[in-house]
Amino acid sequence: MTGNFWWKEKIHRDFGHAYKVELVFEEKNLQKIQIFKNPFWGYFLVLDGIVQFTEKDEFIYHETITYLPASLLENPPEKVLIIGGGDGGALRELQKIPSIKKIIQFEIDTLVFEVCQKYFFKLSGNYHDPRVSFIIKDGLEGLKESPEKEFDLLIVDCTDPVGPAKSLYTYEFYKEAYRVLNEKGVFIQQASLPVYFPQILKSSYPLITSVFPIVKIVRTFVPSYGEEIAFLLATKEPKDWFNPKQVFKGKYYHPSLNPYYFSIPNTWIDILSK
Ligand code: SAM
Repeated sequence: MTGNFWWKEKIHRDFGHAYKVELVFEEKNLQKIQIFKNPFWGYFLVLDGIVQFTEKDEFIYHETITYLPASLLENPPEKVLIIGGGDGGALRELQKIPSIKKIIQFEIDTLVFEVCQKYFFKLSGNYHDPRVSFIIKDGLEGLKESPEKEFDLLIVDCTDPVGPAKSLYTYEFYKEAYRVLNEKGVFIQQASLPVYFPQILKSSYPLITSVFPIVKIVRTFVPSYGEEIAFLLATKEPKDWFNPKQVFKGKYYHPSLNPYYFSIPNTWIDILSK
């Protein structure tokens, strides 16, 4: 379709946002990849019908999924693993942390990476950085090939638990995630409220709590998604959730936000899983 038209997001048969858009790019590879342009949100990426991020507010999500878990570490992060994140936004924020010496990224879809480097180049981190190893591979397969207790941080910036990301919400995945994190390591995974969160709570939450001793629900507000929820899984109780030892400040993230991020008590799990 050419020109401006109304496009409805296909998150769920009965739910999705609608946007007046211009179609900029569309191709089907492993996933259906679309890029739209909207006067308010700017360019935005859609995978299999679901909005991944918009130019306008992606920094809120990418600062949250990197600085928040990093803030809870006892020592500054050195080795980080990203799963997914083909747009390069998580890499961009991690590269601002001076203590980080090594970043490995497993992204399953080459075309997502190539298309984002073309249309969202200014939002992406620098893949020519010698600290970065970018590998096209399923995140679960990549985990299985990774050494034990290797990473301080594991950031799962994946799509929802449908399509290629299904493998990233399984017991095997969480066992492998626990194995590759060192004893002070911290793990975060996007768990996209409002649609898939109840399903993830029902199916993945019991798996996660059977592997990780510490499991916290993280909430943040990303205007283009509405509420965005991510699990935070720490293999060890951080010294202080609310006054973090590692201090990072972004355009949005600030350590004073930590209490807000953890303001949904785990006792709400059964309420939220309905
Ligand atoms: N910020 C977005 C969100 O919260 O919905 C996600 C951004 S990013 C575009 C999601 C990435 O996960 C995509 O590049 C997709 O190809 C990747 N992905 C999905 N399943 C994967 C898997 N099994 N292994 C590695 N990457 C995967």
